Amino acid sequence: MGVISAATTLLLSASLLAGIAPLVTESTSSTAVADLIATVSGERMMATIQDLEEFGSRAFYANGSREAADYIQQRFEALHLDTMKQEFTVGGFESSNVIAMMEGTDPDTPCFLFGAHYDSENMNAENLTLAETLPAPGADDDASGVATVVELATVLAGTEIKNTIKFVAFGAEEAGFDQSGGLAGSSVFVLAEKANGTAYAGTVIFDMVGYKAGAQNYVMGFVNSASGQLPWAIESAVSEHSLDLVIELVDAPWMAYSDHYPFWLAGYPSMLMIEELDNTTYAPLYPHYHTQNDTSDKLSPDQIAEIAKATVAGLVSVAEREGGSDFTIYAIAATVAGGSVAAVLVYHRRRQARVQ
Ligand SMILES: [Zn+2]
Repeated sequence: MGVISAATTLLLSASLLAGIAPLVTESTSSTAVADLIATVSGERMMATIQDLEEFGSRAFYANGSREAADYIQQRFEALHLDTMKQEFTVGGFESSNVIAMMEGTDPDTPCFLFGAHYDSENMNAENLTLAETLPAPGADDDASGVATVVELATVLAGTEIKNTIKFVAFGAEEAGFDQSGGLAGSSVFVLAEKANGTAYAGTVIFDMVGYKAGAQNYVMGFVNSASGQLPWAIESAVSEHSLDLVIELVDAPWMAYSDHYPFWLAGYPSMLMIEELDNTTYAPLYPHYHTQNDTSDKLSPDQIAEIAKATVAGLVSVAEREGGSDFTIYAIAATVAGGSVAAVLVYHRRRQARVQ
């Protein structure tokens, strides 16, 4: 009962007299979630993007890509998450997926995953020399996605959920000048997960979430018929928590151009979250796409923060349905001195203080 206050202890002892009935009430748990999503920081996310754009080029041919992988690993390790590199070669170059795991309390429940790609591309790189040397800051594509994954890990690191959560930065999502890449890291990852028999309740891939094309914070969620509950829980979270975000879910099994696609091909529930695209061609509206001008000053800290908040709230609600996060609430009916007092809400949130 480490984090329960004196008043709570008193209520608890009173309830021991009267009996405890676990009862989950929406309003109380949404308070807890509101506290949690309030810890999301757009400023911290922008700092992650700025760190990543400073590697010059993160094209999978370039050293900057391998240095960025080390940087991301250090960020996860600083959160005390089990972290590893899953190495592979692409087009003759060493690359890796950086995988961090937040072990769940019940290994029998299926996992959740949040992922993004850390490599970048400059479309003017027509050969190896240019690919290794031309600046490819990739702030929106896809340092914004990596920053979202690192932020989710930061915010969730202090909570306890039955489901294991994996936070993954994928290598070599971009095709490269010689087309030797292209969803390479996520394909390697999914094959290994299938071989290990890993089960997923939901996965979300963030790819280009920082550019605000219009007046509103906006995100599109591309789903297929097997995307699971998580996309809709994220959508509901926007209104439940009055987030400043427009979210549009699009049923689009043909949408193949990001790391969610190998998950779909393997039959895993997945969704691609991406900023507003052209509503007929679904091409990026971002004018600096795959150029040296894709820099953090073009991005919206508010939009990425609202996307992270919706994702945290959506996850908690699905994890609860999946069988339980640590946000367990007890309504104590206590009979004290001849009257019955419904003493509400003893909130048991282990280690919640650390998240704050
Ligand atoms: Zn991308």
